Amino acid sequence: MKVQLLPSTFNNCGAASSSQHLTCFVIDDTVAVDAGSLAMAASPIQQQQVRDIVLTHAHLDHIAGLPLFVDDLFPTLSSPVTVYSTESVIETLERDVFNWSVYPRFSELTNDNGPVLVYRTYRAGDAFTVKHLTFRSIEVNHRVPTTGFLISDDQATIAISGDTAEMDEFWDAVNQAEELSAVLLECAFPDELEELARLSHHLTPTRLKSEMAKCTRTDCRFYVVNLKPMHRETIVEQLGKLNIKNLEPLEVGKIYEW
Ligand SMILES: [Zn+2]
Repeated sequence: MKVQLLPSTFNNCGAASSSQHLTCFVIDDTVAVDAGSLAMAASPIQQQQVRDIVLTHAHLDHIAGLPLFVDDLFPTLSSPVTVYSTESVIETLERDVFNWSVYPRFSELTNDNGPVLVYRTYRAGDAFTVKHLTFRSIEVNHRVPTTGFLISDDQATIAISGDTAEMDEFWDAVNQAEELSAVLLECAFPDELEELARLSHHLTPTRLKSEMAKCTRTDCRFYVVNLKPMHRETIVEQLGKLNIKNLEPLEVGKIYEW
Protein backbone atom coordinates (compact mmCIF):
# COMPACT_ATOMS: atom_id res chain seq x y z
CA MET A 1 0.00 0.00 0.00
CA LYS A 2 1.42 3.35 -1.09
CA VAL A 3 0.39 6.30 1.08
CA GLN A 4 1.20 9.98 0.57
CA LEU A 5 0.19 12.99 2.67
CA LEU A 6 -0.15 15.66 0.01
CA PRO A 7 1.63 18.98 0.60
CA SER A 8 -0.39 22.09 1.34
CA THR A 9 2.05 24.91 2.01
CA PHE A 10 5.00 26.56 0.27
CA ASN A 11 8.47 27.54 1.43
CA ASN A 12 10.31 30.78 0.55
CA CYS A 13 11.21 29.42 -2.89
CA GLY A 14 7.63 28.47 -3.72
CA ALA A 15 8.30 24.74 -3.35
CA ALA A 16 6.24 22.40 -1.15
CA SER A 17 7.14 22.83 2.53
CA SER A 18 7.03 20.35 5.40
CA SER A 19 4.20 22.21 7.14
CA GLN A 20 0.69 20.84 7.01
CA HIS A 21 -2.24 23.24 6.78
CA LEU A 22 -4.57 20.81 5.07
CA THR A 23 -5.12 17.06 5.27
CA CYS A 24 -5.32 14.77 2.25
CA PHE A 25 -3.85 11.27 2.11
CA VAL A 26 -3.75 9.57 -1.29
CA ILE A 27 -3.54 5.78 -1.28
CA ASP A 28 -2.07 3.99 -4.32
CA ASP A 29 -2.70 7.13 -6.38
CA THR A 30 -6.38 6.16 -6.60
CA VAL A 31 -8.26 6.74 -3.33
CA ALA A 32 -8.15 9.88 -1.19
CA VAL A 33 -8.76 10.05 2.53
CA ASP A 34 -9.90 13.64 3.15
CA ALA A 35 -9.52 16.27 0.47
CA GLY A 36 -7.83 19.25 2.14
CA SER A 37 -5.24 19.83 -0.58
CA LEU A 38 -6.48 17.38 -3.21
CA ALA A 39 -7.18 19.98 -5.91
CA MET A 40 -3.98 21.90 -5.21
CA ALA A 41 -1.40 19.15 -4.76
CA ALA A 42 -2.57 16.00 -6.56
CA SER A 43 -0.07 14.81 -9.18
CA PRO A 44 -1.36 14.55 -12.78
CA ILE A 45 -1.77 10.78 -12.36
CA GLN A 46 -3.62 11.26 -9.06
CA GLN A 47 -5.86 13.88 -10.65
CA GLN A 48 -6.59 11.45 -13.46
CA GLN A 49 -7.23 8.45 -11.21
CA VAL A 50 -8.74 9.64 -7.93
CA ARG A 51 -12.52 9.48 -8.13
CA ASP A 52 -13.18 8.09 -4.64
CA ILE A 53 -12.76 10.32 -1.58
CA VAL A 54 -13.38 9.06 1.95
CA LEU A 55 -13.94 11.81 4.51
CA THR A 56 -13.19 11.67 8.23
CA HIS A 57 -15.20 14.83 9.00
CA ALA A 58 -16.31 18.13 7.50
CA HIS A 59 -13.80 20.58 8.96
CA LEU A 60 -12.37 22.99 6.38
CA ASP A 61 -8.79 21.74 6.53
CA HIS A 62 -10.07 18.30 5.48
CA ILE A 63 -12.48 19.32 2.70
CA ALA A 64 -11.06 22.60 1.29
CA GLY A 65 -9.84 20.94 -1.91
CA LEU A 66 -13.04 19.01 -2.60
CA PRO A 67 -15.13 21.72 -4.29
CA LEU A 68 -12.13 22.82 -6.37
CA PHE A 69 -11.28 19.23 -7.34
CA VAL A 70 -14.79 18.61 -8.70
CA ASP A 71 -14.74 22.04 -10.37
CA ASP A 72 -11.40 21.32 -12.12
CA LEU A 73 -12.61 17.96 -13.41
CA PHE A 74 -16.19 18.97 -14.21
CA PRO A 75 -16.07 18.90 -18.04
CA THR A 76 -13.86 15.82 -18.29
CA LEU A 77 -15.44 13.41 -15.79
CA SER A 78 -16.64 10.18 -17.38
CA SER A 79 -17.74 8.89 -13.97
CA PRO A 80 -18.70 10.93 -10.91
CA VAL A 81 -16.46 11.82 -8.00
CA THR A 82 -17.79 9.67 -5.15
CA VAL A 83 -17.60 10.99 -1.60
CA TYR A 84 -17.88 8.46 1.23
CA SER A 85 -18.88 9.96 4.54
CA THR A 86 -21.36 9.83 7.38
CA GLU A 87 -24.82 11.33 6.88
CA SER A 88 -24.00 14.30 9.11
CA VAL A 89 -20.92 15.19 7.06
CA ILE A 90 -22.97 15.13 3.86
CA GLU A 91 -25.59 17.37 5.46
CA THR A 92 -22.87 19.84 6.43
CA LEU A 93 -21.30 19.80 2.96
CA GLU A 94 -24.62 20.34 1.19
CA ARG A 95 -25.83 23.00 3.64
CA ASP A 96 -22.61 24.94 4.22
CA VAL A 97 -20.36 24.39 1.19
CA PHE A 98 -22.24 23.17 -1.88
CA ASN A 99 -25.09 25.61 -1.24
CA TRP A 100 -24.71 27.84 -4.34
CA SER A 101 -23.56 30.69 -2.05
CA VAL A 102 -20.16 29.29 -1.12
CA TYR A 103 -19.92 27.00 -4.17
CA PRO A 104 -22.19 25.30 -6.72
CA ARG A 105 -24.24 22.31 -5.60
CA PHE A 106 -22.40 19.79 -7.80
CA SER A 107 -24.61 16.94 -6.59
CA GLU A 108 -27.43 18.49 -8.67
CA LEU A 109 -25.32 19.05 -11.78
CA THR A 110 -24.40 16.79 -14.66
CA ASN A 111 -21.94 16.96 -17.52
CA ASP A 112 -22.37 15.17 -20.89
CA ASN A 113 -21.60 11.84 -19.18
CA GLY A 114 -23.94 12.13 -16.18
CA PRO A 115 -23.59 13.13 -12.50
CA VAL A 116 -20.32 14.71 -11.36
CA LEU A 117 -20.63 14.26 -7.59
CA VAL A 118 -22.36 11.45 -5.71
CA TYR A 119 -22.39 10.46 -2.05
CA ARG A 120 -22.12 7.09 -0.38
CA THR A 121 -22.91 7.04 3.32
CA TYR A 122 -21.38 4.87 5.98
CA ARG A 123 -22.13 4.75 9.69
CA ALA A 124 -19.45 4.75 12.36
CA GLY A 125 -18.54 1.10 12.90
CA ASP A 126 -19.28 0.08 9.30
CA ALA A 127 -16.84 -1.73 7.06
CA PHE A 128 -16.99 -0.84 3.37
CA THR A 129 -15.01 -1.29 0.20
CA VAL A 130 -13.53 1.49 -1.90
CA LYS A 131 -11.75 0.26 -5.03
CA HIS A 132 -9.23 -2.36 -3.82
CA LEU A 133 -9.31 -1.13 -0.22
CA THR A 134 -11.37 -2.17 2.78
CA PHE A 135 -12.24 0.57 5.24
CA ARG A 136 -13.38 -0.07 8.78
CA SER A 137 -14.72 3.13 10.30
CA ILE A 138 -14.33 3.91 14.00
CA GLU A 139 -15.95 6.84 15.79
CA VAL A 140 -13.32 9.04 17.44
CA ASN A 141 -13.56 12.00 19.81
CA HIS A 142 -13.55 15.34 17.99
CA ARG A 143 -15.63 18.50 18.27
CA VAL A 144 -17.84 17.36 15.37
CA PRO A 145 -18.80 13.79 14.31
CA THR A 146 -15.54 12.26 13.09
CA THR A 147 -14.35 8.80 12.18
CA GLY A 148 -10.94 7.21 12.05
CA PHE A 149 -10.21 4.17 9.92
CA LEU A 150 -8.47 0.87 9.64
CA ILE A 151 -7.60 0.60 5.94
CA SER A 152 -6.49 -2.68 4.36
CA ASP A 153 -5.47 -3.98 0.97
CA ASP A 154 -4.50 -7.59 0.41
CA GLN A 155 -1.02 -7.00 1.85
CA ALA A 156 -1.15 -4.40 4.59
CA THR A 157 -3.35 -2.60 7.09
CA ILE A 158 -2.88 0.89 8.43
CA ALA A 159 -4.84 2.93 10.99
CA ILE A 160 -5.64 6.64 10.71
CA SER A 161 -7.03 8.38 13.80
CA GLY A 162 -8.50 11.46 12.13
CA ASP A 163 -8.77 14.59 14.27
CA THR A 164 -9.41 13.46 17.81
CA ALA A 165 -8.88 13.84 21.55
CA GLU A 166 -8.79 10.86 23.93
CA MET A 167 -10.33 7.71 22.45
CA ASP A 168 -10.81 4.06 23.40
CA GLU A 169 -12.60 2.32 20.53
CA PHE A 170 -9.84 3.27 18.11
CA TRP A 171 -7.21 1.67 20.36
CA ASP A 172 -9.32 -1.45 20.77
CA ALA A 173 -9.39 -1.77 16.98
CA VAL A 174 -5.66 -1.11 16.71
CA ASN A 175 -4.87 -3.64 19.42
CA GLN A 176 -7.12 -6.29 17.91
CA ALA A 177 -6.07 -5.90 14.26
CA GLU A 178 -4.50 -9.10 13.01
CA GLU A 179 -1.66 -7.29 11.32
CA LEU A 180 -0.82 -3.60 11.30
CA SER A 181 1.96 -1.73 9.53
CA ALA A 182 1.43 1.86 10.65
CA VAL A 183 -0.73 4.02 12.88
CA LEU A 184 -1.17 7.67 11.89
CA LEU A 185 -2.07 9.78 14.91
CA GLU A 186 -3.01 13.38 15.20
CA CYS A 187 -1.19 15.85 17.46
CA ALA A 188 -2.41 19.34 16.65
CA PHE A 189 -1.11 21.50 19.48
CA PRO A 190 1.98 21.86 21.72
CA ASP A 191 1.66 21.20 25.45
CA GLU A 192 1.32 24.90 26.32
CA LEU A 193 -1.92 25.06 24.32
CA GLU A 194 -3.46 22.25 26.37
CA GLU A 195 -6.59 24.31 27.10
CA LEU A 196 -7.19 25.01 23.39
CA ALA A 197 -6.56 21.35 22.60
CA ARG A 198 -9.10 20.35 25.22
CA LEU A 199 -11.71 22.80 23.91
CA SER A 200 -11.24 21.81 20.28
CA HIS A 201 -10.83 18.06 20.97
CA HIS A 202 -7.28 17.64 19.73
CA LEU A 203 -4.16 16.04 21.21
CA THR A 204 -0.92 17.52 22.57
CA PRO A 205 2.35 15.55 22.93
CA THR A 206 1.66 14.82 26.62
CA ARG A 207 -1.88 13.68 25.86
CA LEU A 208 -0.60 11.64 22.91
CA LYS A 209 1.73 9.82 25.28
CA SER A 210 -1.23 8.91 27.54
CA GLU A 211 -3.10 7.72 24.46
CA MET A 212 -0.23 5.56 23.30
CA ALA A 213 -0.15 3.88 26.70
CA LYS A 214 -3.43 2.27 25.59
CA CYS A 215 -1.67 0.57 22.68
CA THR A 216 -0.42 -2.95 23.28
CA ARG A 217 1.19 -3.44 19.87
CA THR A 218 4.91 -3.53 19.35
CA ASP A 219 4.91 -4.60 15.70
CA CYS A 220 4.08 -1.34 13.92
CA ARG A 221 5.33 2.19 13.47
CA PHE A 222 3.57 5.32 14.69
CA TYR A 223 3.45 8.55 12.70
CA VAL A 224 2.20 11.93 13.86
CA VAL A 225 0.09 14.07 11.54
CA ASN A 226 -2.03 17.23 11.73
CA LEU A 227 0.62 19.33 13.49
CA LYS A 228 -0.56 22.95 13.35
CA PRO A 229 1.99 24.73 11.11
CA MET A 230 2.69 27.64 13.48
CA HIS A 231 3.62 25.19 16.26
CA ARG A 232 5.26 22.43 14.24
CA GLU A 233 8.80 22.87 15.56
CA THR A 234 7.66 23.01 19.18
CA ILE A 235 5.43 19.95 18.80
CA VAL A 236 8.22 17.96 17.11
CA GLU A 237 10.63 18.94 19.90
CA GLN A 238 8.14 17.95 22.60
CA LEU A 239 7.38 14.66 20.82
CA GLY A 240 11.11 13.93 20.70
CA LYS A 241 11.39 14.36 24.47
CA LEU A 242 8.71 11.72 25.03
CA ASN A 243 11.22 9.05 24.01
CA ILE A 244 8.56 6.85 22.45
CA LYS A 245 10.00 4.10 20.32
CA ASN A 246 8.88 4.02 16.68
CA LEU A 247 7.16 7.42 16.85
CA GLU A 248 7.97 10.12 14.29
CA PRO A 249 6.23 12.88 12.34
CA LEU A 250 4.89 11.73 8.97
CA GLU A 251 6.81 13.55 6.26
CA VAL A 252 4.60 15.67 4.04
CA GLY A 253 4.84 14.65 0.38
CA LYS A 254 6.88 11.50 1.03
CA ILE A 255 5.55 8.26 -0.42
CA TYR A 256 5.38 5.54 2.24
CA GLU A 257 5.00 1.92 1.20
CA TRP A 258 3.53 -0.55 3.67
ZN1 LIG B 1 -11.19 18.77 12.73
